[in-house]
Amino acid sequence: ENEDNLITPAKEKFPLEAYQGVWVFAELRHGAIMNIALELLGEGRKLADTLGVELGAVLIGDKVEPLAQDLFAYGADVVYLVENAELENYRTESYCAAMEKLIKTYKPEILLIGATNIGRDLGPRLAGRVHTGLTADCTVLDIDTEKRLLNQTRPAFGGNIMATIICPDTRPQMATVRPGVMKKATPDFNRTGKIVKAFYPPDIKVRTIVRDIVKEARKIVNLEEAQIIISGGRGVGGPEGFKLLEQVADSIGATVGASRGAVDSGWIPSNHQVGQTGKTVHPKLYLACGISGAIQHLAGMQHSSVIVAINKNPNAPIFKIADYGIVGDLFKVLPALLDTLKEI
Ligand code: FAD
Repeated sequence: ENEDNLITPAKEKFPLEAYQGVWVFAELRHGAIMNIALELLGEGRKLADTLGVELGAVLIGDKVEPLAQDLFAYGADVVYLVENAELENYRTESYCAAMEKLIKTYKPEILLIGATNIGRDLGPRLAGRVHTGLTADCTVLDIDTEKRLLNQTRPAFGGNIMATIICPDTRPQMATVRPGVMKKATPDFNRTGKIVKAFYPPDIKVRTIVRDIVKEARKIVNLEEAQIIISGGRGVGGPEGFKLLEQVADSIGATVGASRGAVDSGWIPSNHQVGQTGKTVHPKLYLACGISGAIQHLAGMQHSSVIVAINKNPNAPIFKIADYGIVGDLFKVLPALLDTLKEI
């Protein structure tokens, strides 16, 4: 960045009133719009209506224009489209450069990004580039209409308090939002909108340095989008226990989750953790194996459509929220389930 950019805060260049509109970053995965983007559009629509402004969606990728129609259906009025072969996959530098250019050109008042791995990478760097603040991991958003301020609420101090954070002096007001918390709008596929095509900054140079070649790539964990989750807790007993869960997961098309108890024991990486300090999930089926049901775990999975718990303690709190409970040893129940699945 040039020096002038670094030392001149955005607010001195443009008055706050120059910034208008609510924007949502439409995150893609394998060329498809992620649920979090649709959830942000649902929330963004409400904020935009309260402020009386347009709702924009930022769509970045290669040959992604056909996806704009879905963004309109879920509430966007305008799609800001940046297409380039360089942008086929997410890369910090290139996506950040494209977003920075869009923000500086069109000046949105609010920008919402999913608190996904990509959003957590993009959001802070972008906020730094455009000299504004960012509230990470929000679970509630609303507008102070008098001051045109976005109240950004998130759990703080290990979830013991809810903190509401504002960004009074700079724009855009930026927040990353937890997946699975906001509601998607009912799509209206007759809705249309405006596409604004923006150019990818041609002078951006991206270097990729390969430091390590890993023979076996770790499976992508996408708990927020999973329809079926099988989660293990301390009752799983160790990393080998998770192999059994993986076998069941493979046979029913599930994603493997975990309690913090299992993660803290080092049996499974932290990107599998469900709960207050992990992921918030809402699958059609959540299978909790050897998980006691602590309040912090329930915070992340209690909105699953159907919850099945396997626990050898009949008094385990997980049974209070389970739709179906199996009191038994998971090392007997899960192999029996696998055998039954093979017969089907
Ligand atoms: P345990 O509570 O030890 O339960 C193990 C269960 O397995 C028991 O109910 C036992 O009966 C059962 N069991 C044992 N062997 C078997 C067997 N062979 N077959 C069947 N059942 C068996 N926790 C989270 O999960 N996610 C979070 O995001 C999270 N965030 C937290 C944030 C804060 C600020 C704090 C203070 C805590 C947080 N916790 C979180 C931790 C939480 O309080 C619990 O400690 C944790 O969820 C317990 O994990 P667990 O259920 O696996 O273990």
